[in-house]
Amino acid sequence: MKKKKLGRVTKKVVVPDMLRQILIHTVARRAAIVTLIQKGAVRGICHSQPCCSSDVELTSVRYPGVQRGSYSQLSDKHVQHFKSILPKERVITDEDDIAAHNVDWLGMVRGASQIVLKPKTTEEVSAILKYCNAENLAVCPQGGNTGLVGGSVPVFDEVVISTSLMNNIISLDELSGVLVCQAGCILENLDSYLSERGLMMPLDLGAKGTCQIGGNVSTNAGGIRLIRYGSLQGSVLGIEAVMADGEVIDCLSSLKKDNTGYHLKHLFIGSEGTLGIVTKVAIQCPPSPKAVNVAFLGLDTFDDVLRTFKEARSGLGEILSSCEMMDMLALDAATTNLNLQRPIGEFPFYMLIETSGSNGTHDEEKLTSFLEGLMGSGIIHDGTVASEPSRIKLMWKLREGITEGLLHDGYVFKYDISLPHNSFYAIIPELKTRLPAEKVGRICGYGHVGDGNLHLNITTPKFDPAVLKIVEPFVFEWTSKLKGSVSAEHGIGFKKTQYIHFSKSQSSLNLMKDIKKLMDPKGILNPYKVLPAQH
Ligand SMILES: Cc1cc2nc3c(=O)[nH]c(=O)nc-3n(C[C@H](O)[C@H](O)[C@H](O)COP(=O)(O)OP(=O)(O)OC[C@H]3O[C@@H](n4cnc5c(N)ncnc54)[C@H](O)[C@@H]3O)c2cc1C
Repeated sequence: MKKKKLGRVTKKVVVPDMLRQILIHTVARRAAIVTLIQKGAVRGICHSQPCCSSDVELTSVRYPGVQRGSYSQLSDKHVQHFKSILPKERVITDEDDIAAHNVDWLGMVRGASQIVLKPKTTEEVSAILKYCNAENLAVCPQGGNTGLVGGSVPVFDEVVISTSLMNNIISLDELSGVLVCQAGCILENLDSYLSERGLMMPLDLGAKGTCQIGGNVSTNAGGIRLIRYGSLQGSVLGIEAVMADGEVIDCLSSLKKDNTGYHLKHLFIGSEGTLGIVTKVAIQCPPSPKAVNVAFLGLDTFDDVLRTFKEARSGLGEILSSCEMMDMLALDAATTNLNLQRPIGEFPFYMLIETSGSNGTHDEEKLTSFLEGLMGSGIIHDGTVASEPSRIKLMWKLREGITEGLLHDGYVFKYDISLPHNSFYAIIPELKTRLPAEKVGRICGYGHVGDGNLHLNITTPKFDPAVLKIVEPFVFEWTSKLKGSVSAEHGIGFKKTQYIHFSKSQSSLNLMKDIKKLMDPKGILNPYKVLPAQH
């Protein structure tokens, strides 16, 4: 499968001399680490990553229980009509050109759509949806197709509506920091545009070079800076969206305060294309920090990770902009599989802590005192701090490369759960006892520990139904017992519809179903996603 470009931009920062590189001290490789490595966990599994989309089993074959809805089949008449709405080069029917739109980034689901439409304007989206609704054609909205829950590709033969050509920046108020743009703008491009004007996007994630703001909003993406800038529910000020019948809903307010009735934008934030297609977004963008530092730390136990997080919250306070953790096997997926250099010795756990502020000297003092405190109390044993953009970028690459590195193991069973901090990591050792070592590559955890969000990953050489049976619904039941969420930030998509009830009450699900019926009575928008079939 062709991989898309992923990247991140590191902003220019003032480099505080003292923090140019603090090498705390190096410790010998700990024997305890060995016990954390499962037998054969890092044994160089044969890399069976799909090399082209047809290697991925069709979703309808892998999940025979999912039945196609009674939608119309695409006909020549439909294609001709789409060509009357869009120029013919934006009505894609060539099998090779469509292939990448049918397969998700993880290579775990593959639809069989025969058409991809590429509108450039809200009016074109409206005309397409009006026609699809009248003709009872199901559609799948698609942004950058980096979603990790199978929501962004068709399940059967839905018409793909790609927003990739809706990529205009409409306005930026440099005083208030409010950016208005079309949904197909790539997150990294927006961030680069803003950074030239002293501003930044309030969210950042490993897929920033490919994902689009419309996709981010539709998944209510979290990412690595949520701890500092909050969720999109807060920073998105307004949305324009097109409903299933083609009606344009204009909630594109760029006001910070607007309590005139129901806050309709929230219906589109996180609804994963099931209630409408987001066409424009107004978003509040903070100023770029003048000083950024990243500390990469090695720790012995998960308790030490929690202690470090607690100290970071109190000691770094308002300058803390990211607090990430990864266990040894997660980091190994990036270092071994992507050939990246580990900056410190080998430890059972690592943390990446970022500070962003407006005064380098102040931040330096705070960070130094924070790190000295941790060293003094024996919580961290090894670490390095970067303040130069190039080194910061390298450190982030280690954390952000994990998602891609895991794919090189073969198939990834991926879980994105919210858990209380005191039970955050316990599921990993539990799964190591449940899963037969000879069946799995690695069982590892990483994620946004500051937000209580664990990315639990199990890799196997290829998709293995026996592993699936052991892991699901166990992971969801475990999460539910701890009153966590079965989807912290990736959404429900296609993969988790049958497990949503572990985190949503029946009355909430009923209301969701009623809202869906009201806004999309024929159910043409992203069917088989989010809502469970039986509700
Ligand atoms: C390496 C990597 C790292 C990632 N890190 C994170 C992370 O830290 N945090 C996080 O939350 N996610 C993360 N993700 C997941 C993914 O990048 C996000 O979910 C992202 O927001 C999806 O954006 P997209 O444009 O690719 O949307 P797509 O994948 O194309 O679509 C996602 C969903 O939104 C719908 N959709 C897309 N555009 C629209 C629109 N305009 N209107 C209506 N519906 C639409 C689709 O139908 C689908 O259901 C990561 C993914 C990768 C590959």
